Amino acid sequence: SIREVLIMLENKWSVKKLSIDLELQDFLYLGSKEMMEEVWNNLIGNAIKFSDSGGQLKIKSLKNKNTVIVIISDNGIGMTKETQEKIYDKFFQADTSHSQDGAGLGLSIVKRIIAVHQGKIHIDSELNKGTTFTIDLPMLPEFLYHFKIGNKYYSLQSSSDSPQPLLLSLTVHTSTHRPDQ
Ligand code: ADP
Repeated sequence: SIREVLIMLENKWSVKKLSIDLELQDFLYLGSKEMMEEVWNNLIGNAIKFSDSGGQLKIKSLKNKNTVIVIISDNGIGMTKETQEKIYDKFFQADTSHSQDGAGLGLSIVKRIIAVHQGKIHIDSELNKGTTFTIDLPMLPEFLYHFKIGNKYYSLQSSSDSPQPLLLSLTVHTSTHRPDQ
């Protein structure tokens, strides 16, 4: 989940004394938790890497109609339009002096993973102002969270605490009442 990735990256953002504005709504999507964690790790990792000390990160997830929107925003170094056009290319790094570590592979992988999940990724960035990545992921419709077949109720359950769980297990309740009621 995004929360877990933030915990994993804590040493990086705490050293830079970044403040984090976190606003996460729970959602379920169909896909790979491992792959999506790679996405969050890359985007949040970059937001930290390209922020100055004392900067601010904003991380939000909000449910749209059939999709969930995740917004990862920093007020760091930002990018020119030319740079923005190349960031998804393999091995591209805007900083030719390579003063920042990394291989320039992260965002090309991010783009692939989002495509595999039939989502979209969008960038807004301004040099010396900051960068915002917006991800739009198809969400599992909420009416599927609980459903009934015959006289059995089924609940889709997430593999971990909210948010961004991958659905992993299906529990069967043989009662004739919805388990959440
Ligand atoms: P890496 O981070 O390993 O260099 P990425 O593919 O993740 O490779 O990113 C490619 C390039 O895009 C980075 O080198 C950097 O120039 C630019 N970039 C990515 N994210 C940001 C960001 N949040 N702010 C400014 N520049 C960024």
